[in-house]
Amino acid sequence: MNLAVQGIINGSTLQVLIEDGWIKDVGIFSGTVLQHYKLLDTQGILLPGFIDIHVHGGGGADTMDATMEAYHHICKTHAQHGTTGLLLTTITQSDEAIVRVLKSYNSQDEIQGAEILGFHLEGPFINPEKPGAQPKEFIQLPEARLLKKWFEISHGRIKLITLAPEMPDAESVIETAIQLGIVVSAGHSNATYLEAIKGFKAGIKDTTHLFNAMSALNHREPGLVGASFDSQDVYAEIIADTIHVHPAVLRLAARIKGVEHLMLITDAVSAACMPEGTYELGGQSVSSVSGAVRLADGTLAGSALTLDRAVQNMLSCSAVNPVDIPLITSSNQSRMLGLPYGKIGVGSPASLISLDDQWAVTHTIVRGNLVYQK
Ligand SMILES: [Zn+2]
Repeated sequence: MNLAVQGIINGSTLQVLIEDGWIKDVGIFSGTVLQHYKLLDTQGILLPGFIDIHVHGGGGADTMDATMEAYHHICKTHAQHGTTGLLLTTITQSDEAIVRVLKSYNSQDEIQGAEILGFHLEGPFINPEKPGAQPKEFIQLPEARLLKKWFEISHGRIKLITLAPEMPDAESVIETAIQLGIVVSAGHSNATYLEAIKGFKAGIKDTTHLFNAMSALNHREPGLVGASFDSQDVYAEIIADTIHVHPAVLRLAARIKGVEHLMLITDAVSAACMPEGTYELGGQSVSSVSGAVRLADGTLAGSALTLDRAVQNMLSCSAVNPVDIPLITSSNQSRMLGLPYGKIGVGSPASLISLDDQWAVTHTIVRGNLVYQK
């Protein structure tokens, strides 16, 4: 039966009528209309579901596991924290390992959780000087031929690629990506300000986890951070766990990039939503202690973050206002990737969430299906 989800939108209690996964109407309806729906009164604030464009894993599973079972775990785990759509994110690995991931996705298998919107390739065309937790031995020079091959293998499901624009031949990969409809993000990069600006002019639209694993802002050499700040139309991902980025810098980023171009990501790994301990990230051992996930040498290796927590952090450090939350969690991502999400409106996909007054997720609805209830 079709759902009528009741909750608060812009201060008023309204009903969202859902049919076959799409929003048919939003308003206050009479009993005669509502009798055709199953009423779900969430008693909370309704928002468009969160979209996480940079997530490696969660609930003990990693994208690099390359199985539908792992993807199912990741999607189910993050749906419990408000994510209704995500890009499974690979890390810098061998051609075979990347191919295995891209081949393992089967759209016929039903996922009870966040919707898989495609893949984000993080690497392998990055700068070895800024590997972060990406295994250095698999970093390689940009090659458009490889990206084309991976795109075909994925049946067109690669939506985003993170690369370092200053590497040789990066420009031909950027050009190929744009032709294929893949959005390019600058990251794991040591680009100078000018190299970064050149990349943006070539069509790069996003900055991968702003501040982390990139050339910093220096007043004489503004680096990739400065170039992103100076390019208003370029989006920026940010990891708001207050470990990757200081709360004061979260405020600065929101002010400078603006809430129309900032996007919360988790960069979560398998350790997210799991007890502290030792986990794997694309073949490397990582330890999860006190909310931080690190390699043995102390390098941050993704996060244990979920998007509900990222939202709570942004609000508690006054980086944004509550009214901005749908922009930085859903609409900006949707606009950048050319997807129809990011609003609760007639004709939109019915992927929405309900939150209580503490910004905790109580209900997650993906394409009209209630996949989580607290
Ligand atoms: Zn990552």
